[in-house]
Amino acid sequence: MQEQIAQIRQAAVESAQQAATLQELTNAKVRYLGKKGELTKLLRSMGQLPPEERPVFGRLVNEVRDELEGIWAKREQELFQLEEEQRLKAEALDWTLPGRRPMRGTLHPITLVINEAKEIFTGMGYEVVEGPEVEWDYYNFEALNIPPDHPARDTQDTFFFSEKLLLRSQTSSVQIHTMEQRQPPIRIIAPGKVYRADADVTHSPMFHQIEGLVVDEGITFADLKGTLQLFIERMFGPEAKVRFRPSYFPFTEPSAEVDVSCIICGGSGCRVCKDTGWLEILGCGMVDPRVLRGVNYDPDVVSGFAFGMGVERIAMLRYGINDIRLLFENDVRFLKQFGM
Ligand SMILES: [Zn+2]
Repeated sequence: MQEQIAQIRQAAVESAQQAATLQELTNAKVRYLGKKGELTKLLRSMGQLPPEERPVFGRLVNEVRDELEGIWAKREQELFQLEEEQRLKAEALDWTLPGRRPMRGTLHPITLVINEAKEIFTGMGYEVVEGPEVEWDYYNFEALNIPPDHPARDTQDTFFFSEKLLLRSQTSSVQIHTMEQRQPPIRIIAPGKVYRADADVTHSPMFHQIEGLVVDEGITFADLKGTLQLFIERMFGPEAKVRFRPSYFPFTEPSAEVDVSCIICGGSGCRVCKDTGWLEILGCGMVDPRVLRGVNYDPDVVSGFAFGMGVERIAMLRYGINDIRLLFENDVRFLKQFGM
């Protein structure tokens, strides 16, 4: 019997020491000291002993029980501390780590240029208007003095839905819509998408234009020059020089192309300006009297000017972008350079 007590004691001490968690320790306690535990069982079997041996045996079992209770209490304390340390370690925060920055979107360079142009022109009293991208041939060509078989149609590889319906190839169509709906004075810009069957490093099948139109009594070419001069200085900086070259557009007479002094080299000549020192930036002219008559305006009473510019071209020059396709690939690494 005494040997049995010693064995149980030994096994119990070992299991207490081997318990790695509080849960394991509790399980072991139940196994040895619980109501159905090994030691309790042993105490119950005391009845089999001769009466004179029972007090000694009982005392012995109770001594071992007290000892084991003490061992358990100590081990419990150790494991509690251990688990507490592990928990704190796992939950520890390193306050010196840099924080994660939230992702922040940026405006597309096309949007930036359009927004800036809107700001410049609305500051001069212009109104921003829009027109449809799916357009009648009449508004895109005929009303702009470009009848069928006119050679100017060949320069704009237009997407046609049918003989009369197309994707607008120029925002100039908005001029006609506006003049049909209103009477002078008119002072508008019309930014928007236009479409041409053309794609390479400087052409995209969809691109953006900003159209401008002013019609009122006594509007002259001097008004046109002053307006565009101011716009270009605001868009490219006060050091930008402006040059007007005679040109031809079917819906303006006289017509001009406008150059800005090269933004890259400042006019001394470089690869971007092909050593000319100048960059072509927009087309303009006085509204052709035939166009005014077409919308029932009297060209003897009112006159006007119109201009149109490619937004991609301005964005490429402003931001030093050498491939138009970068503007349409939506590569976030490219776009986030234009953060504002
Ligand atoms: Zn240059």
